[in-house]
Amino acid sequence: MEKFTLVTGGTGYIGSHTVVALMEAGYQVVIVDNLENSSDKVLSRIESITGTLPVFIRADLRETTTITKIFEEYPISSVLHFAGLKAVGESVENPAKYYDNNIGSTLSLINAMKSSIVSTLVFSSSATVYSPSKEPPFDEEATRGPTNPYGMSKYFIEQILTDVALADENWSIGLLRYFNPIGAHPTGLIGEMPTGIPNNLVPYIMQVAVEKLEKLYIFGDDYETPDGSCIRDYVHVVDLARGHLAALRFLEGVNGTHVWNLGTGKGSSVLELVKAVEEAIGKPIPREVVGRREGDIPVVFADVEKASNELTWRAENTLTRMCLDHWNWQRQNPDGYQ
Ligand code: NAD
Ligand code: UDP
Repeated sequence: MEKFTLVTGGTGYIGSHTVVALMEAGYQVVIVDNLENSSDKVLSRIESITGTLPVFIRADLRETTTITKIFEEYPISSVLHFAGLKAVGESVENPAKYYDNNIGSTLSLINAMKSSIVSTLVFSSSATVYSPSKEPPFDEEATRGPTNPYGMSKYFIEQILTDVALADENWSIGLLRYFNPIGAHPTGLIGEMPTGIPNNLVPYIMQVAVEKLEKLYIFGDDYETPDGSCIRDYVHVVDLARGHLAALRFLEGVNGTHVWNLGTGKGSSVLELVKAVEEAIGKPIPREVVGRREGDIPVVFADVEKASNELTWRAENTLTRMCLDHWNWQRQNPDGYQ
């Protein structure tokens, strides 16, 4: 019987791109998502790209009984765990919601996996687990010390999963620390669907580009960086999707917990990013420099040697390509999947 990969949060931004990559590589996929931050319209888009409609089950991961039944119904051999809440600001205002959803979902998933003897798991962690006191680039050994409840939830989950694999040597767990995912599938059929006013830079700029927002506010140009604006490691979501496949293949042959940064290893400033978007869309982005955003770290970029050596994975897409693909999605879907 064909084996399935369970993708939690598979209708979301990174999950949907990874589902496409999995299906194109011949994997059978079951998606579980409660649609809290996504739309089931993504499923027909995935079908348009891959030629196959993935299996979809609408459920909250915290309902362990429902999740256990999914493992009984499908011969699942591995899990990619994307499901979670990700808005840093909201996590500061409502930490309990974030701990309950992100940690509660993961514990429920682990219990369902244990009772079904499935022990291969890839978890969506984040560069926000690193302590801002460290000088970039951040390698996987860099001190961790998140500064908000969202980052703390990732930190705790990493620890829980590490302990699970220590207690039972059958587990194979990959912790993927993403840097700043942007871009969209080159068809423009799937992409990021922020609800309300976006917090992140690229979705915000794109809404300025389609004139849904008046102008971009640049949070500070007085940092100690070459042009004064903050630096981040932007990575194409399709490269991230490939990184999950590489991690899954690696875990098929080993046990224990393994952690990898997924970024490009190259930092780009806010002003460089704005310029790349302007080139992609062929028009200027109205902008205004305002004060620094509280909590922003001046420079963040990854050391990607470990992923390169162990997974033979490297991000391939340039910043220009990321902006072109993100714009292509935004232009075709100004209101997301609505
Ligand atoms: P997303 O919000 O687009 O996708 C997450 C999905 O999980 C959504 O479809 C949501 O409906 C679902 N979900 C949330 N709670 C659930 C629950 N209890 N049960 C079932 N489904 C649930 O986010 P994304 O950008 O695709 O991020 C995927 C993962 O990667 C998240 O865990 C996020 O924290 C992590 N991550 C994202 C970024 C980023 O910048 N996008 C960076 C680092 C890490
Ligand atoms: N940023 C900005 N204006 C915005 C949103 C973000 O100038 O409307 C800046 C922000 O200060 C940071 C960079 O863009 O330096 C990336 O921000 P984002 O929230 O996308 O990622 P994060 O800071 O979480 O890595």
